[in-house]
Amino acid sequence: MRSEHPLDPPASFSPLADTQGEWAPDPASPLPLHRQISAYFIAKISSGSWPPGIRLAPQRELCRQLGVNRSTLVTALGVLAERGLIEGRRGGGTRVAAVQANGKADAAKPFGNWNDYLEEGTHYPNLPAVQAINRLEYEPGLIRLGTGEPAPGLLPGAAMTRVLAELAARPLPPLSYEEPLGSPALRSAVSRELLKSGIQADPASILITSGALQGLQLIALGLLPRGSTILLEKPSYLYSIHAFQSAGVKFSGLPMDQGGLLTGCIAAEALRTKAAMLYTIPSFHNPTGIVMDGERRQTLMEITGELGLPILEDGAYQELWLDTPPPPPLKALDREGRVLHLGTLSKAASPGLRIGWIVGPEPVIRRLADIKMQTDYGASSLSQLAAARWLDGGYHEEHLAVLRGKLRERRELMLQLLQAHFTELATWSIPAGGFYIWLSLHQPLPLRRLFTAALEAGLLLNTGDLYDRGDSRHLRLSYAYASHEELSRGLPALAGIIQQRVK
Ligand code: PMP
Repeated sequence: MRSEHPLDPPASFSPLADTQGEWAPDPASPLPLHRQISAYFIAKISSGSWPPGIRLAPQRELCRQLGVNRSTLVTALGVLAERGLIEGRRGGGTRVAAVQANGKADAAKPFGNWNDYLEEGTHYPNLPAVQAINRLEYEPGLIRLGTGEPAPGLLPGAAMTRVLAELAARPLPPLSYEEPLGSPALRSAVSRELLKSGIQADPASILITSGALQGLQLIALGLLPRGSTILLEKPSYLYSIHAFQSAGVKFSGLPMDQGGLLTGCIAAEALRTKAAMLYTIPSFHNPTGIVMDGERRQTLMEITGELGLPILEDGAYQELWLDTPPPPPLKALDREGRVLHLGTLSKAASPGLRIGWIVGPEPVIRRLADIKMQTDYGASSLSQLAAARWLDGGYHEEHLAVLRGKLRERRELMLQLLQAHFTELATWSIPAGGFYIWLSLHQPLPLRRLFTAALEAGLLLNTGDLYDRGDSRHLRLSYAYASHEELSRGLPALAGIIQQRVK
């Protein structure tokens, strides 16, 4: 059972019927609104898209999703209930009924219910709050105050068009499967790119992945036994995904200060938990924005060296410095091949290209490549082609300079807004790069309720409990996504909501 996992409070996995973005009223239709809605629900149920047992979202949420008032929804649901298509269960919300539209129970009942299967796979579901964010990010009109990707306007649309035009100007190579480690051209380009941050890595030590996220998944599946423990910063991005937990790996969170992970606790915790690895985001940490200072990096390498503890270094944000470059990555200090290093094009150039990489010793890279071949036969060859040109053509370097300028302006605006509206409510630090400000509330708050209240006001939040389950006093704010106008509207509104709650 998932709920037995020490990291996860029961995330009872009740699939919700999702109307998100699919339904819109048809002004030309002769049918009244409630009939249009019931017709839409009936089509979903009778096609099996919403199978028996699936739960409908709470009425308030359905009204929000459909953009209708309560009485319209209740009338529409009444029609479904009359036909026996849905049924209410005490405490269990409204579900699609097992009885079909013709009023008969499924005769032979060869197949019970998909719900019986949905919790059986080995991969954990996302946290319900993460599932909600993943859906809501595509809902128009919401101000995304915590989103961890550059706004579309910050992504290099024109330059990427040029890259693709350059590729199209010559005959395209056949889009075959690539080598297990990824396209040689892209690995060479990544190798040259890594040198800029002091990492010397041959193309044979680089595996191209579908984003850094896949790198995490491959490492969890390929290198760590079930039941093993990894040490990590607390809070951490890793708590918000389930790549490691799904592979049966446990976490032990270590405290941080403004200089990064506190190295003093590593040895005792590594011995106590028999840790198999240490995961860290030393530069522009997600979610706190903290940079591990140079001395701390040295100490970390020494202590883990004595323990023989491998390190997984996540460099997703390291090139996004805004003031001065961060100290060299841990991989640049590694003389024993003890550090695995993750990189990605997602945070600066294109999240949708799905191109990342793992750098490590050749046998490790080959082992992970073998699992990748079994998983997806490699990242998209078209994406790899574009990424190689993007890096080799100097586009990346040029784009980074522009992006840094825009992120600096956005950081400035957010800091001004925080200064104006949050001084009574919270503290924060000025991030030297990346996207995030870790807002530390003076008083703890029920963060799930804050999330809902903010959502009702049109604000989408990434609350601290996603990155540290027990947290009740932080928000991860991002200056990378919402526009200047949205930040100027959204942050005062958020301050108002928090103010009301702490009274
Ligand atoms: N690592 C960190 C620290 C991240 O914040 C993210 C994205 N949120 C990733 C890895 C994964 O990014 P991608 O798969 O898009 O490269």
